[in-house]
Amino acid sequence: MSQFSQASFVLSAWQPHQFPPDQGAEVAFAGRSNAGKSSALNALVARKDLARTSKTPGRTQLINFFALSAAWRLVDLPGYGYAKVPQRMQEHWRELLTGYVRSRTSLAGVVIIVDARRGFSDHDQQLLEMLSATAVPVHVVLTKADKLNRGEAAQTARRVTTQLTERASVQLFSAVDGSGLDELRRAVLGMLNRAVPPLPKNS
Ligand code: GDP
Repeated sequence: MSQFSQASFVLSAWQPHQFPPDQGAEVAFAGRSNAGKSSALNALVARKDLARTSKTPGRTQLINFFALSAAWRLVDLPGYGYAKVPQRMQEHWRELLTGYVRSRTSLAGVVIIVDARRGFSDHDQQLLEMLSATAVPVHVVLTKADKLNRGEAAQTARRVTTQLTERASVQLFSAVDGSGLDELRRAVLGMLNRAVPPLPKNS
């Protein structure tokens, strides 16, 4: 947990040349707008306002980077599926995202936040296709699980699992009651650790 409470905002990028140096390891969060990505990120770092940075006007279409340590980062990718976003912006966004996913060497994993009541959107599917061309692990978080009963939640998790490759993992989550939070933290730390283990304390 202490790794997450250290999170601090680094920068927002609109073009790849603005990204922080491609070193260490980072886990990126993606999802349809309103799926619950900010709530999940805030729960992860146990702060109410971390992801608000990403929601300030002008930043919602940017890639926002947060540092957990000198070597580890969390990345908040722009929420997709805003009907209001002009075509030209959507194209820019798609190019930015494709470029990011394909060329970012430090990308240790992608967490896709999906509203458990809605399942995968077309954009989620497109992202999964993009990722299937890479070796980047995927962790799918079915959020707002508090709005489903146990049977519905289990059924959704099974259905989503069948839509994924073996490399992807799936979990249920709720930012409201905190269920699945430990599992999410373990998944993110696992991806970061596999890519770049933290330095031993005495080094
Ligand atoms: P984002 O656009 O993906 O960043 O989504 P937000 O985190 O802003 O959440 C969108 C809406 O869903 C807000 O009204 C949140 O309060 C609500 N929400 C997010 N996570 C949960 C959850 O786990 N359970 C419930 N019931 N509502 C949630």
